[in-house]
Amino acid sequence: MPYIYIVPIAAPATHWLGPLEQALKACFTLPVRRLSCDIDLDSAYDQGRRQYNSSQILLQLIRTAPPDTAKILGVAAVDLFIPILTYVFGEAQLGGIGALVSTHRLNSRLYGLPENEQLLRERLIKESIHELGHTYGLLHCATPGCSLNASTYVEDIDQKSDQVCPACRARITGHHSV
Ligand SMILES: [Zn+2]
Ligand SMILES: [Zn+2]
Repeated sequence: MPYIYIVPIAAPATHWLGPLEQALKACFTLPVRRLSCDIDLDSAYDQGRRQYNSSQILLQLIRTAPPDTAKILGVAAVDLFIPILTYVFGEAQLGGIGALVSTHRLNSRLYGLPENEQLLRERLIKESIHELGHTYGLLHCATPGCSLNASTYVEDIDQKSDQVCPACRARITGHHSV
């Protein structure tokens, strides 16, 4: 039986784990399990940028995925980047197994607002579905509200839902039957 594995990466808060598991199970109709992996964050740290190289962490995740992995999602709490962008909310292997998200830029505190666990959970679920959608080969989608809408700023995440549109849904479902 293939699983979606959720891997918390030095992410202290766990209030989001249960709701995230439920949301992924519902969206991708696969059983979800938690997994602890030895991810070496230090080796992904960029001294100059004071951020963590997202692709490097993603590669570590993919390498440690168990044989019964359908998808593996790392949830970090550090500031992620890829070289061409100032920051990323997450990254995924298009049409592969691995995805990574971080709560860092989803936290209202970063924007000088009070901590809001509910909002953080919602944003994390949306971004996790978004990144996992990429692992199903989905590209960014322009249908209003679809989780696969591109998000540059955190406000963009709040504009979309935690659901994928029918067209994206069909591609995820089609993927299971082949
Ligand atoms: Zn994307
Ligand atoms: Zn869509």
